[in-house]
Amino acid sequence: MSGVAPAVAVGDGITSLYQEVIIDHARSPRNFRDIEDASRRVEVVNPLCGDQLTLYIQLADGGVADIAFEGDGCSISQASASLMTMAVKGLRQEEALGLFSRVHTMLTTEGDAPPAEVGKLAVLSGVWQYPMRVKCATLAWQALRSALEDSALEDSALEDTGNPNGME
Ligand code: ZN
Repeated sequence: MSGVAPAVAVGDGITSLYQEVIIDHARSPRNFRDIEDASRRVEVVNPLCGDQLTLYIQLADGGVADIAFEGDGCSISQASASLMTMAVKGLRQEEALGLFSRVHTMLTTEGDAPPAEVGKLAVLSGVWQYPMRVKCATLAWQALRSALEDSALEDSALEDTGNPNGME
């Protein structure tokens, strides 16, 4: 052990904690790899910031058996993708789409406190305050939605959203 842990600003405790989690995930993203025989592979880019990522999903029995990503971009985009893969792995497809909706709302709508059901993803709850960052944070989630909605078309299990491009 060496050195002293850096001081965390007093009075800004929650924000600092959230920032630490985001920095940690950006530096060592979880599930950062490819899945060779993935059921779905989706590439997305955020030209505003230069973020790009490829999402791999392995679907089995209506659920997300495995999920991983590769890519390059700013801390928010990498951390959001890392947190997303952790949150979504093991969910049913409809649960994953439900989580997409809640997180997308959280990222794009002003709110005092993150909804309890988003769990760890609450660290991203302040992003709506930074319009330039919203696209970074939602990028992985847009990829998730298009991956799952592709498969939903095959299953006819979900209604068409009337937004075939998956673009805003
Ligand atoms: Zn970015």
